Amino acid sequence: MTFASAPHILAIAAGIQPAYDKDVTPTPPACGRDIPWRRGEAAGFGLPRVRVETPAPPVLGKEPVHRKCADFRFDPDSMCESGFLFFGEPMTLHDKFGRQITDLRVSVTDRCNFRCVYCRSADPENYREHDEILSWNELERLARIFADLGIQKMRITGGEPLVRDGVEVYLRKLTELRVPDISMTTNGHLLAERVPGLISAGLHRINVSLDSLDPIKFEKITRTRSYDSVMRGIDAVQATALAPAKINAVLVRGFNEDEVEAFAAFARERGVIMRFIEFMPLDADRHWSRDLMVPAEEVYRRIHAQWPLVQIPHAQSETARKYRFADGAPGEIGLIAPVTQPFCGHCSRIRLTADGKVRTCLFSKDDHDLRGMLRNGASDADIEERIRALVDQKEKGHRINEAGFVPPSRTMVFIGG
Ligand code: SAM
Ligand code: SF4
Repeated sequence: MTFASAPHILAIAAGIQPAYDKDVTPTPPACGRDIPWRRGEAAGFGLPRVRVETPAPPVLGKEPVHRKCADFRFDPDSMCESGFLFFGEPMTLHDKFGRQITDLRVSVTDRCNFRCVYCRSADPENYREHDEILSWNELERLARIFADLGIQKMRITGGEPLVRDGVEVYLRKLTELRVPDISMTTNGHLLAERVPGLISAGLHRINVSLDSLDPIKFEKITRTRSYDSVMRGIDAVQATALAPAKINAVLVRGFNEDEVEAFAAFARERGVIMRFIEFMPLDADRHWSRDLMVPAEEVYRRIHAQWPLVQIPHAQSETARKYRFADGAPGEIGLIAPVTQPFCGHCSRIRLTADGKVRTCLFSKDDHDLRGMLRNGASDADIEERIRALVDQKEKGHRINEAGFVPPSRTMVFIGG
């Protein structure tokens, strides 16, 4: 689809809003089937872990012996009478290309109180029935299984995670599972009052979406009047140990690409990590086109021209190329370029949708159901085996830049970003 053939998205950019919510979009009802947590329910979190250090095989001429670590599941029942320990399989997930999968994005709801133009439709959309969405107990069970499989990072997302009652309780459960890195992505509308609760539940890091610093443009993009509440949410985060917030902006030409420098100035003034995400073909209305996407290279060039940037080293599996300001100003810039500079070769992520499907790639053609297993009496071992098998088949990469690319049938709000 070309820029000119995206009339709906352009109409919104021009100020015509086909299905505009009259006021701040009310919070949609939280998903059903939210069985309240019972005290003590969290007791048996799988088995404790032990860290075993093994010397790597000696390499001739390279004197220092590097030690490799691997986590194993330790089962006290497996201690045989002679006192030897029996270790099970290493707790890691790998695909057939040798990539280790350590990051899980968990979508806890497909509901959202915003309708960002690059994500949701202005037209009414079908949400999943509430009983199709995983209950918190089911989500907790899967989190435990994934943690046992070596998942190190869990990001809670949606839809909008803060619209589902009980998200703080779920975070607490993840904390008790000792997931090393627990983060959340939110649109920020409900954030300000929730920050203390999120912190005490154990949240480590937070990403807040903010697509414009101009309230009028913000309204056009998100189709809400929530600018002030999102800003209050960011202020609340910045006043706590969760600072610096990561601020996500998806740039869409005709909407907000003129704000690159303003966002960079915002990072410098507020000391936040400003991340620019390339618009991906995951919008509900299928208006994505290359013309609407602002390449990361353009963002870099424009900011660097005004405030020279210095690259910060990053882990290969990280999605963002990170920069600091050469003049020492606070704040950081992150560029996420899944379209123009795909990072599939080092991808360490998989996703769990709110209705219990595993997606091994944002652009997967198929997803893999776990909900049926959960509800049909599968054991943890069965589910682990299934997860290992489907992770093994993770796609080599997305095909956005190949002829004949077909966007996935599920859009971002259903997959979980
Ligand atoms: N509702 C929350 C939010 O907006 O932050 C969390 C879910 S949202 C799907 C997660 C992230 O995906 C957001 O940062 C959003 O900007 C991003 N996103 C949504 N649709 C996108 C698209 N078509 N291309 C690139 N990023 C997108
Ligand atoms: Fe909702 Fe987030 Fe999608 Fe915007 S990007 S419509 S806030 S899920």
